[in-house]
Amino acid sequence: MQTNFSLAQLADPALAESESILRKCVHCGFCTATCPTFALLGDELDSPRGRIYLIKEMLEKDRPADIETVTHIDRCLSCLSCMTTCPSGVNYMHLVDEARIRIEKTYRRPLADRALRAMLALIMPYPARFRLAVRAAALAAPLTPLLGRFGQTGDRLAAMLRLAPLTLPRRSAYPKSGDIKPEITKIARVALLGGCAQKTLRPGINDATIRLLTRIGVETVLPKNEGCCGALVHHLGEEHQALAQARHNVDVWTAEIEQSGLDAIIITASGCGTMIKDYGFLLRNDPAYAAKAAKVSALAKDITEFLATLALPEPKNTSGLTIAYHSACSMQHGQKITTQPKALLTKAGFKVRDVPEGHLCCGSAGTYNILQPELARRLRDRKIGNILKTAPDAVATGNIGCITQIAGGMNLPVLHTIELLDFAYGGPKPAGLSA
Ligand code: SF4
Ligand code: SF4
Repeated sequence: MQTNFSLAQLADPALAESESILRKCVHCGFCTATCPTFALLGDELDSPRGRIYLIKEMLEKDRPADIETVTHIDRCLSCLSCMTTCPSGVNYMHLVDEARIRIEKTYRRPLADRALRAMLALIMPYPARFRLAVRAAALAAPLTPLLGRFGQTGDRLAAMLRLAPLTLPRRSAYPKSGDIKPEITKIARVALLGGCAQKTLRPGINDATIRLLTRIGVETVLPKNEGCCGALVHHLGEEHQALAQARHNVDVWTAEIEQSGLDAIIITASGCGTMIKDYGFLLRNDPAYAAKAAKVSALAKDITEFLATLALPEPKNTSGLTIAYHSACSMQHGQKITTQPKALLTKAGFKVRDVPEGHLCCGSAGTYNILQPELARRLRDRKIGNILKTAPDAVATGNIGCITQIAGGMNLPVLHTIELLDFAYGGPKPAGLSA
């Protein structure tokens, strides 16, 4: 794509990066075929190619974001399906990130929209606040049917209340921080990201991870003071907060690397994994953090990516259950992890089924299912319809957002891959599983 940025514009590293991405796009439109919002809406401006044009116009002409650009960028899930399809290597992720930052800097959203976004940014990355908010949402749940009378804001608040569970599971059985020694001879030492929403909604995911890791000889560190990875606010275009959260975690993990060494930083939510693997890029122009962030990104591994490099023992419980594997967008498109989770589940004795239209997002996408409830619901229902075609006993996936989204629309157990693996290798049976 031809671009016409001025030399002064290109002196800005962020704009220079966007320009180099735009130049790679050859307008072929292959990406439109795999874009979930184009599949639903059929509008070129809700396709990757259409959005790329809108972003180019906004950045190149150095103008504030307009309502048309905001509408179509807001509808983008950042699922990155377009990046998997693109034959020219267009890094849509970094381009749309830049567009979102520009939007937040130059566009004044309606008051209710600003208030909701500010509330999400103030609550979701902080486990204690998030826990309180989920409890408050459970109390407010009876009001959900009334909220439909209050337009878009009411629909968003209703979506938020529907997503919040009425009861919360017990807190983790492990301490908040510290070293958990392996049960057999040590083969590796890793840090485990605690996460924020996941810690509250499904603490059993990290508990299963710790159990399995310690059983196979991996020392697991839960670093003190670690915080949210920053992905939630990053997708809201809140660059300052996202980078502050990234720097904080880089400091925490760097201290651990320098003190006792780490073989990996293990992540059990693929949305967080995609973000942490991008720290090196996000902090590339910060001399105090560039090298440390690159090191952290290189050490970041999804739990299945890490387990796939180890020689696992024979499973203890081979249930033979049929598992529909839903590959989260941040897993398959963001991190290009496609085979490892399925191979691990198969080795553990499960019959694994691919979900038809597996490239399409389930509609979760960070805060998308709150901010775009109608599109998110349509994507969820389509995903569930495809899952049911595989006649599974349960669904496995690697991201808490997908678990919450899909479980909100079906009765089958929706589990994290590690919960099934932990069970197969001697851990407790996950709740709801029939084996
Ligand atoms: S990130 Fe997903 S929703 Fe956004 S343009 Fe790409 S394919 Fe479409
Ligand atoms: S597939 Fe890639 S090169 Fe083709 S229009 Fe989409 S982003 Fe551009």
